[in-house]
Amino acid sequence: MILENLEEVNKRIISACKKAGRDPKEVTLIAVSKTKPSSMIEEVYGAGIRAFGENKVQELCEKYKELPQDISWHMIGHLQRNKVKQILGKAELIHSVDSLRLAEQIEEDAAKLDLTVDILLEVNVAEEESKFGFKLEETEEAILKIATFPHVRIKGLMTIAPFVEKSEENRFIFKKLRQFYVDMQSKNIDNVTMNVLSMGMTGDYEIAIEEGATLVRVGTGIFGTRYKIGENEV
Ligand SMILES: *Cc1c(COP(=O)(O)O)cnc(C)c1O
Repeated sequence: MILENLEEVNKRIISACKKAGRDPKEVTLIAVSKTKPSSMIEEVYGAGIRAFGENKVQELCEKYKELPQDISWHMIGHLQRNKVKQILGKAELIHSVDSLRLAEQIEEDAAKLDLTVDILLEVNVAEEESKFGFKLEETEEAILKIATFPHVRIKGLMTIAPFVEKSEENRFIFKKLRQFYVDMQSKNIDNVTMNVLSMGMTGDYEIAIEEGATLVRVGTGIFGTRYKIGENEV
């Protein structure tokens, strides 16, 4: 079942790229494996996927220990400052840098370990109360500040679009972030590469690709539904 799902997702990525006149090599699928056991990850790994996304520090660290070393782990969930040091050197990219204070903490911990940490800034484009992230109009100032941190490298931007009935409703969100991203690229800010745009999940990754995503984060579409206990996804 998982492998069929994966094949379907890969097919849709390719057709979205075709529709947009993009090379499928420009888009990397991140299989979001949060809450899912290592056995399922191994199955997807066996089909050639090497990028996996997790949203909890402890879970990422456990899976990191258990699973093959050539996996690149992506931290996609809200990160508490006191847990930063646990994932440094383990997460290839932190997508969810949602405040200046968090970026400062990453700089501080990375300096101690003499590491350079690749990050994305999370932008709350729709300004949803329930979501973390910079407002779009705050983001440039944050980029300019974080760009001066010697142990942090901004690679690009990430957004989580609202939950909508029809994915088409999120197109303007992706378009808006892409426009800002291109604008930031053109400013050639020192220490900022701005070549990663992480947007699109199971419900809307095709639209996100049409609008320029370079990383798509797909969980349910590959692994099936996650179980919920009360309000909490487990
Ligand atoms: C869970 C999660 C995803 C994957 O969501 P699906 O709808 O299951 O594809 C993507 N991005 C983030 C930040 C997530 O927390």
